[in-house]
Amino acid sequence: MDIITLGGRDELCLKETASAIADINDSVLQLSQAMLETMHEGKGVGLAGPQVGFVKRIFVTHAQGDQDRVFINPDIIQTSLETVTYEEGCLSIPGVYAEVVRPAGIVIQGWNEKGRPFKLTAEGILARIIQHEYDHLRGVLFLDRINEKRRERILKSYGRKIKSL
Ligand SMILES: [Zn+2]
Repeated sequence: MDIITLGGRDELCLKETASAIADINDSVLQLSQAMLETMHEGKGVGLAGPQVGFVKRIFVTHAQGDQDRVFINPDIIQTSLETVTYEEGCLSIPGVYAEVVRPAGIVIQGWNEKGRPFKLTAEGILARIIQHEYDHLRGVLFLDRINEKRRERILKSYGRKIKSL
């Protein structure tokens, strides 16, 4: 297993699989608001629970031109066959960007910031952000989605190291 050394800290919880939130109560909804604030402070477009040490199935997004969104216990239930390549970065791997191929569109269901169930069809940048954040719930980083040689080259170019566990 490879982990990425981030500023001297090994972000092990980023490699864990998040568990479902058993009770979507007020404290969970408050946490989702705090995550939105943290995301905006970091000028990010998405933030997942494991990135803030809360290894549960929750993430938030803010795609350009879109509203703030909260996804609790989300499930991607459909992905398009069409794929697109887009450059991604991550608040947990600051300053590193790489092009990643993913489905162009998705259908996702989950519970929102009010604790109500919803289903959403997304494409474009929102679909991209959702898939990136959804990966965080499974311990997958965007750099895991590109081949090893390219990943090493990219990290080297950014002066980062990959360390094997
Ligand atoms: Zn990320």
